[in-house]
Formats: sequence, structure tokens, C-alpha cells
Amino acid sequence: MTASTNASRFDAAPRGVRSSFEYVEGWGMAVGAHGRVFRPRTVDELRAVFASARRDGVTLGLRGSGCSYGDASVNERGHVLDVRGMNRIMAWDPATGVAECEPGVTIEQLWKTILPDGWWPRVVSGTMFPTLAGAAAMNIHGKNNYAVGPIGDAIRAFDLVTPSGELLTCDRERNADLFHAAIGGFGMLGAFARIVLATKRVHSGDLEVRALRVPGLAEAMEAMDARTGSADYLVAWLDAFADGAALGRGLIHAARYLEPGEDPDPARTLAVARQELPPNIFGVPKSEAWRALRLLNHDAGMRALNAAKYAVSALEVERGAYRQSHAAFAFLLDYVPNWKWAYGRRAGHGLIQYQVFVPKETAYRVLRAVLEESQRARIVPYLAVLKRHRPDPFWLTHAVDGWSLALDFKVTPETKEALWRHCSALTERVLDGGGKFYFAKDLVLAPEHARRMFPAKELAAFGALKRRLDPDNLLSTNLARRVFDGFA
Ligand SMILES: Cc1cc2nc3c(=O)[nH]c(=O)nc-3n(C[C@H](O)[C@H](O)[C@H](O)COP(=O)(O)OP(=O)(O)OC[C@H]3O[C@@H](n4cnc5c(N)ncnc54)[C@H](O)[C@@H]3O)c2cc1C
Repeated sequence: MTASTNASRFDAAPRGVRSSFEYVEGWGMAVGAHGRVFRPRTVDELRAVFASARRDGVTLGLRGSGCSYGDASVNERGHVLDVRGMNRIMAWDPATGVAECEPGVTIEQLWKTILPDGWWPRVVSGTMFPTLAGAAAMNIHGKNNYAVGPIGDAIRAFDLVTPSGELLTCDRERNADLFHAAIGGFGMLGAFARIVLATKRVHSGDLEVRALRVPGLAEAMEAMDARTGSADYLVAWLDAFADGAALGRGLIHAARYLEPGEDPDPARTLAVARQELPPNIFGVPKSEAWRALRLLNHDAGMRALNAAKYAVSALEVERGAYRQSHAAFAFLLDYVPNWKWAYGRRAGHGLIQYQVFVPKETAYRVLRAVLEESQRARIVPYLAVLKRHRPDPFWLTHAVDGWSLALDFKVTPETKEALWRHCSALTERVLDGGGKFYFAKDLVLAPEHARRMFPAKELAAFGALKRRLDPDNLLSTNLARRVFDGFA
């Protein structure tokens, strides 16, 4: 069924529910489709959208802020249900740090509400714009994954509206199977309608940050491993163009929360205004900075930019420990709004992020091979980020006791085929090393890869739950059809 036939067949929106016909794309802009988008504001409206889609025999793809890089919230064979209209923080208790939120509440809304009371979300992504529903559906991780696990570990309970319209409350005791399947279940089992989550007590709006320069991949991994006991956050940027003895050189940032009394004026640093990212970068308004990056968005430019970043990182290391606001540390990528536009704004241009997760036993060998093979193929990622992870109890988790390397690859109509071939070769290597992938960042996996990366028992149990809760396959996305054959 094409998008245009959808438009004419389904003009009758459920009564009172806002909807429009528009182009819906993945965050990396490399995939998208025109279609009908419904924006319910209440649980009843959400149920009405489910009911009308079922009546009309069309699939629904759930969508939050659309920050998944690939096709996780794109549904070119059906409609899209955007949950951002349900965005009230229903309850916030500054005594316990527990928040009860509608699904469309964003990480930004959450931290801005709780920080003045001395709390911070336990897990945030590198951008503050995702919704809590999108974050839960992908079970996002932060730069502290090795220490606190994914967002699912911070979720106390949720309400899920299943495709039949039933509302199920799930936690670690009630509907425990569904609790562990829907978190990380990429919107296939129902729509989160309420999420209750615990947050982290902080005694300052600042973190203490230390930068550490590393000459290669082995040193980066050793230095990060040595700090997992003392640092609350750890992340490394790697120069993916550096080769030979310099392969994997980069800059680690280690941060820790301040203890009570270390910040002389917490009321000042906890204020939201103090956290806001600066409006200018080197005197250029932030909103225009992507244009400067656009000029460098080719292999030679990015090779030079990565080398320059490594060179100037020596200055940051010399500074020693410094203080930085939570928002500035956590949401570095939000510094330059729409930086993705540097990859081009024409059809077929954009980026994919290809994030590999590898157990610690094979990580060095596999990650080295990933970097080397990318250089050999002359398909070098413009950005490479290394993180440490730990396992978690969610059924379709991407986490391992090991490492992830997130690689941003440029996509153009001319390079797409070769890039997909390259990723497919890397995928074999990663799977051979016992590794996994992350659906929030994926646009290249095939069903055989999903079968290899998850334990057969978990996959079968997830499939059984899907057939029980959604026998008509109402909930679907491009990702679900690509990687799970639409659960056919
Ligand atoms: C610049 C950038 C940095 C990032 N950094 C990180 C990072 O550090 N760590 C990390 O883990 N991720 C990171 N991400 C990925 C991002 O956190 C995830 O893709 C997240 O899922 C996005 O949430 P969203 O609200 O945009 O959801 P979308 O991308 O719109 O959807 C994500 C999934 O949620 C499902 N969904 C949406 N609403 C519901 C609902 N109500 N009920 C059930 N399912 C639903 C969708 O079907 C889809 O499968 C980053 C993304 C960007 C763009």
C-alpha cells in the first residue's frame, strides 16, 4: 500500500483527534515517508486511534520525538501515532525523586522540572529531546551505563495500552514479563501511556569533569576500565581517521557528582537558567553553526577536524579538573542545533549511526577491526564514540558486559550501496565476536542478524507476547518489517 492510497482511504480521523498528512523521517534523514500522523492528547484518544486503525486494517507506528537515527518510528505502510501531545508531568515528589509522567514528556521537560529540587534523571541520552516513551521503548543508555544500567532500570512502573485498547499496569511484580519485554520492545507490544521513574539526588548543578588524552584504542579502554569505580560518567571520543600506531586515539571525559558541601552555592547552580547551553559558538549564533560544519562535511574536512580536535584536546587536559553543568556535559550534541543538516538537506542525503556492542572478552579485537576495515574501505565515520556498558534484565536488550562504539557514517545516493555493504561486513565481524546492535541507531540490519544477536528463548518469548497482545499486527514500523519480517 502506498502512502498516497493511505491518505485518501483514511481521511476520517477518529473524532476529536488531531491529525495531519506529512513527511515523517528518521533523525538521520536517510529514510522517511509521507503519511498520516495522529496526535492523541488523552488515553481515550489514543484508544480511539488504535480502534480506527484496526477497523480500517492499517498499521500504526508509534513515534515520540523522532530522535531514532534510522527507521524505528517511520511507518511507510501505515499511519503514525505521535505521542507528544500527551506531555504532562502528572506527579513529581521532590522528597523521593519519583516522577509520574505522560509518555510524551521529554527528557528536557523532566530535568528542567526536577533539577531545581536537587534531582537529575538517572539516565539521559546525548540529546535532551527524546520523549520518555521513546526512551523506554528503546531502553536508552547514558554515559553512565556501566554504573547504573539503562533507563529501564530507573523505571518503577508503566501503563501500557495494548492494541485491543486494554490498559495494563506493569512493574517488576505485576505483568513482570510484559514489563521486561515492552522496555526495549521498540513499540511493538502497546503504547506507553504513563511512566513512573526514579531519579538521582544531586547536590549541585555542576559535575566535576576531567579530560584525559589517549594515544590509541587499547589505552582508551584501559583508562576507562580503570575509572569505572570512581567516575559517575565515562565517554571517549575517538579520531576514526587516525591509523597505524595512532588507531583509536582520542579524548576521554570522566565526570563525577559533587558531594554535599563541595558546591558553595547549589541553589545557583541548580537553577535551570544556569544550565542552559551558551547561545553562541565562537561568536556565531548556535542556530547557524551547522553551516560552518557543512563546509567541512567531506572526508578531507573531517580528517582535518578530527586531527585538530585531538591536537587542541591537550589544552583541555592541561586545565585539570573543571566544573561543568549537567546539561552541558550530558547534551553536548545539542550545542549545535540541527548539526545533522551539515550532512546535506537534499533527498537521499543524511547520516546513519552504526553502534556496535561487543562483550569485553572480544571487544578490543573487534573494535580494532571495525576501525581498520573502515579505513581500508575508505568509508570512515566522521564521529566515533566509545562507551562502557553492563548487562540488564530486559528481553531485547542491546547491552553487554563490554563496550560500544557508535559510528556516524555519511549517506549520499552515490555512496549508500557501498556503505550498506560495508556495514554488512562489519556486522558479521561483530556477531562473530558475540556482539549486538541497537535499534535506535540502526538502518542496516536484516532478520538473520536479529536471530543471531538475541538469545533464541527471549526472541521466541517476545514473538509469543506480540502474537498474544497484537494478533493483527496493528503495531508496526519500517524497522519491525525490516528486522523481524513484521513478525509474520
Ligand atoms: C543526537 C542524538 C544523540 C543520542 N544519544 C543517545 C545516547 O546517548 N544513548 C541512547 O541510548 N540513545 C541515544 N540517542 C537515541 C535516542 O535516545 C533514541 O532513539 C530514543 O528512542 C528517541 O526517543 P524519541 O522520543 O525520539 O522516540 P522515537 O525515535 O520517535 O521512537 C523510538 C521508539 O519508541 C517507540 N515509541 C514511541 N512512542 C511510544 C509509546 N508511547 N509506547 C511505546 N513505544 C513508543 C517507537 O515506535 C520507536 O520504536 C540519540 C539520538 C540522537 C538524535
